[in-house]
This record gives sequence, C-alpha cells and structure tokens, in this order.
Amino acid sequence: MSSPNHPAATPAANFIRNIVEADIAAGKHAQRHWAGQPGTASEHAAAPLDPAKLRTRFPPEPNGYLHFGHAKSILLNFGLAAQYGGRCHLRFDDTNPEKEDQEYVDSIIDAVKWLGCSWEQDGETNLYYASNYFDRMAAFAEYLISAGHAYVDSQSAEEMRANRGTLTQPGTDSPFRGRSIAENMDLFKRMQAGEFPDGTHILRARIDMASPNINLRDPAIYRIRHATHHNTGDTWCVYPMYTFAHPIEDALENITHSICTLEFEAQRPFYDWLLERLAEGGLLQRPLPQQIEFSRLNLTYVVLSKRKLIQLVEEKHVSGWDDPRMPTLVGARRRGYSPEGFRLFADRIGVSKNDSLIDYVLFEDAMREVMNESDLRRVAVLDPVKLIIDNYPEGQTEDCFAPNHPLHPELGQRSMPFSRELWIEGEDFMEVPSKGYRRLFPGNMARLRYGYVVECTGCDKDENGKVVAVHCNYLPETKSGTPGADSVKVKGNLHWVSAAHACEAEIRLYDRLFKVPAPGARREGDAPELERDFLDDINPDSIRTIRAQLEPSLRDARAEERFQFERHGYFVADRVDSAAGNPDFNRTVTLKDSWGKAS
Ligand code: ATP
Ligand code: MG
Repeated sequence: MSSPNHPAATPAANFIRNIVEADIAAGKHAQRHWAGQPGTASEHAAAPLDPAKLRTRFPPEPNGYLHFGHAKSILLNFGLAAQYGGRCHLRFDDTNPEKEDQEYVDSIIDAVKWLGCSWEQDGETNLYYASNYFDRMAAFAEYLISAGHAYVDSQSAEEMRANRGTLTQPGTDSPFRGRSIAENMDLFKRMQAGEFPDGTHILRARIDMASPNINLRDPAIYRIRHATHHNTGDTWCVYPMYTFAHPIEDALENITHSICTLEFEAQRPFYDWLLERLAEGGLLQRPLPQQIEFSRLNLTYVVLSKRKLIQLVEEKHVSGWDDPRMPTLVGARRRGYSPEGFRLFADRIGVSKNDSLIDYVLFEDAMREVMNESDLRRVAVLDPVKLIIDNYPEGQTEDCFAPNHPLHPELGQRSMPFSRELWIEGEDFMEVPSKGYRRLFPGNMARLRYGYVVECTGCDKDENGKVVAVHCNYLPETKSGTPGADSVKVKGNLHWVSAAHACEAEIRLYDRLFKVPAPGARREGDAPELERDFLDDINPDSIRTIRAQLEPSLRDARAEERFQFERHGYFVADRVDSAAGNPDFNRTVTLKDSWGKAS
C-alpha cells in the first residue's frame, strides 16, 4: 500500500454540486411551495413559495450506530444545503417496525450534531420521522388501487419468488393480478384492519412482469406485519416497503435532490414511476424529487457495514459501539477524531460514481492536519524513568514556560514546575549510545526542553540490570528564555515532567483494528476454495494500555478535550470522572504515519 501524496486543500470533484448549480441556474425548483411542514400537493399549494433553494435529506434507518460512511453522506447533504441556500432534513427512515429503537434515534441525533450539522435553519426545524407519514402512505396506496396501479397478491412467498423470473427470463403474472379494484380495495382495508396473519397477502404495484428491470416486476409496496413500532405502537399491522416509502417521504418533504448510494441505482425507475403516478393523481407537488446516486465510502483497514460492525460488538471483539477502534461516530468521538477532520477528509475525497477504496492514511492525515492546527501542546512521558539532577537543590521548585501552541503565540504559555527529580522517556537515555544517538548517555549534554541543559553522569540499575534512574548535573546559566541560554550548544532535546508534580494517568495506545487493507477479502495466491473471514484479519495488537506521567495541567482536562503530546501524537481525555479528576487518555493518532513506511 503506497502512502498517498498530500492532495491540495481545494475540494475534490463533486458531480452532485454541478447538478445542483445547474438546477438553481435553470430555476427548476423556484416555483415550489412549502407548507412549513411535509405535505401533499394541495397542502403545499395553499402555502407561500418555498424559501429554500434546494432541500436534501439524511435518512438513516434507526437500527444501528452511524459509521464513517454515514459521515460522508451527512456532510454531503448538509453541506450542499448550507452552500446553496437550502435546507437539509434529518429524517428517520423508521418504516420497519422490528429492528428500530429509540437508543439509535438518540445516538444518531447526537452524531449529526457532533459533526456540526443542523436541521434547524432559518426558523425551520426539519426533523422528521417517516413513520409519521403512515396515514398518507396508506392513503396513497389506496389511490394506486383505485387507479388500477396496485393489486393485492395472495400467492405464497415461494410462489412469488418463482414467478418473478430471472435476469434473463421474464416473470409470470400472478393469478391474482386481475382482481377488480373493488376486491383489491376491500382486501387492503381488511389487511389494515388486522384480519389476516403475516404473509397471507401483499399489496403490489401493477407495472410489468416482463420488465428487463426486475425491480419493476410488480414490486411489493405494503406487507402485513403484526409488530409493535417504536413510534406508532400497535396502530398499524401493515407496513410500507422501503422502496415505496422512501420516494413518498422525499416528495412530501419537498426534497429536490434525493442523494443515495449506488446500490439504489436499479431502484430509480421505480422511484420515478411511483412519484409520477401519485403526481398524476394530484397527490404530489411537481417538480418531483430527483434521485442521484454516488459511490459509498470504502476505507482500508476498517469495515463499514452495519452487519459486520454488529458482529464485532456482539462477539465482543471490541468493548462496544463506542470502542475507540470502531469506525463508528461514537467510536470516533472517544478516539478523539475531530469533526473538522471529517470535513477536510470528505472535501478531499470528493463525490463520484466510481467505487473506490480510500487509503486510511488519507483519513488520518486529514485528522493530523486539523489537529496540528487546533490542539494545544502538552507534555507526557509515556515510558517514565527517573532523571535525578544531583546538583539541583532538594525541595526547590521553579517555573518553566512552554508555549501552548508553537504556531499560535497568542494562545500563550503555561508554566511547568521544574524540580530535582523528573520523569523522562526510557528511550531518552542509553548507557552505551548507538551511533548518532544525541540524547542522554554518560558524558553527553542535552537540553531539557523549556528548561536547562544537563550533563549526564551515569545511572542506577536494579538487580536485573534495568535502568531505574539516570543521573545528571544541570548548567544553571542555560535556562530556556533567559539571556545566554544558548551559550552551550547541544544536539539532543528531550521532554520531561517534574516527578513531584506529575499526574499519573492510564493511556490507551490504539492502533488499527485490522491488520490488512481489505479485511476478509481474498488475497493474491489464495486457493480457489479458500473463503476468508474478516474476523481472522483482526489486528491482535490494536490496543496497548500503559501508565504515563503527565504534566500537572492535564489533571484538569475535560472529557473529549484533545492535546498534542509533544513528540508522541494526538491524545484525547476519555470519560473524565469529574470528582476524581485525573482523566484517562486515548491516543487518537501518532504524529506521523508508521504503516505507510512498513508496507
Ligand atoms: P449499511 O449499508 O452500513 O448497513 P445503511 O445504508 O443500511 O448502512 P442507512 O441508515 O440506511 O444505513 O443509511 C443512511 C444513509 O447513509 C443512506 O442515505 C446511505 O446511502 C448512506 N450511507 C450508508 N453507508 C454509506 C457509505 N459507506 N458511504 C456513504 N454513504 C453511506
Ligand atoms: Mg440502508
């Protein structure tokens, strides 16, 4: 896997933006009316012109937590609305009673807000639930029956499947296709009244059983399901199929550009067919929404399918949906990835119809770039070894000053206490230095960053030969920021924290959850019969927990507050127990990519 070039900061191509601009220039949607809420043609017609130049929507099904792929869709839809004077609706596509839950609704709301997107714009609150349209959907289904565009089929599921045909063979008409309008209406009413068990009847659109597009072979539009719905309870025992519900939701909400992923391309003819029939019947306002497909986000080293994410959680390969290694937005938040980083990443990858696999390094680089700019610098010693300054008075403390951000002097400085015993990194001392080593070894001088130059004099070891303390003397005239500090030139520069003042913390060093770019995919040289399982590609070393010594100001870090720990990378305070202080930290990402080099 090659490390990507760093692309320019200008947004990548986005063909949907071009469509939107052309539609606005042509005034395509300028004459639509908006009732202030979703509605039918007559409800909108009675209201003023729609102040929104376009309407997009993000329509999650509340049956799981959002992942990085959803972030692409959220930023695209809300971004277009913001850029072109439009509105973006958050709509819960909750037409399936069985798999949905309030827990998911809440987490989706949080995630969209966290990404900085809002469905409250210019006095409008565009937060909708598809299940609130059930009345209208059923009425529209009845209209289709009355116009001869739908019928109740009473074949078994197996018969329906058998009669559907194949890609190369046309389907066969159901024996129930010729039912009269009155009979269809009666049966559909009785389906709604709960007279029939699940699976006995189904309402189908009457289109063409010989259509080359299988999706147009009389698709099912309403099914019987005796199930309690999280929003509508037991009001309904028939539920619309997704392919029927979704276009109607879009049209009622005045959506102009209905953006979805490529797998829905083959559904577009039905989307258009359905809305045309309903508009012909005077039920929907024109112009009708236009479905536009783009390629979904695929990223190396992660899986972005709800099914696989559920498996990771349920089989306890991770600690939960918000495990910082999960490519979910709740996971991203605990990992410390920033919403601005998601935006930069989304801008760079652009929007197209070509399926591609994006290098995870591109994602991490976007995060690094944003965090380098935004995150305050702090000092943490991850592998602490004592450094004893033998000529520094015992019990004495003085302040050293370190800039909060080297690129932003206006962010000021903080003081770090300096004293006789410090913590330094184990790797910053070598009893016998390797070639080119510039930090501490007996006889060598190095600078304690923001403090003094010290000369190493030796070390103490335990009975196993392990170094337990390093000794040195300091040069009092070399304090950083004082005149003459540079009088002694040294090559090594190390970070430290005062042992008496340090705050000890647990730090979790995260790495990629999968050790190969395409988890579960076949690889070159695989035997033809070999089937791979993505779980076999889990990286066994994706988490390491250490105890570190941090500069004292980090004791007060708030949850989700992020810092660059100098020389180490970006870290975020995790779930601070407010009473105790002393947060744990999660490593978001290292300063530089180490995977690109290794492979
Ligand atoms: P998954 O396929 O992972 O189970 P989903 O498509 O079933 O996700 P939905 O709740 O239906 O999840 O998705 C809401 C919106 O997010 C849809 O418009 C969908 O097209 C979009 N979306 C889902 N996954 C991706 C992805 N990987 N890249 C871009 N958009 C995505
Ligand atoms: Mg879906």
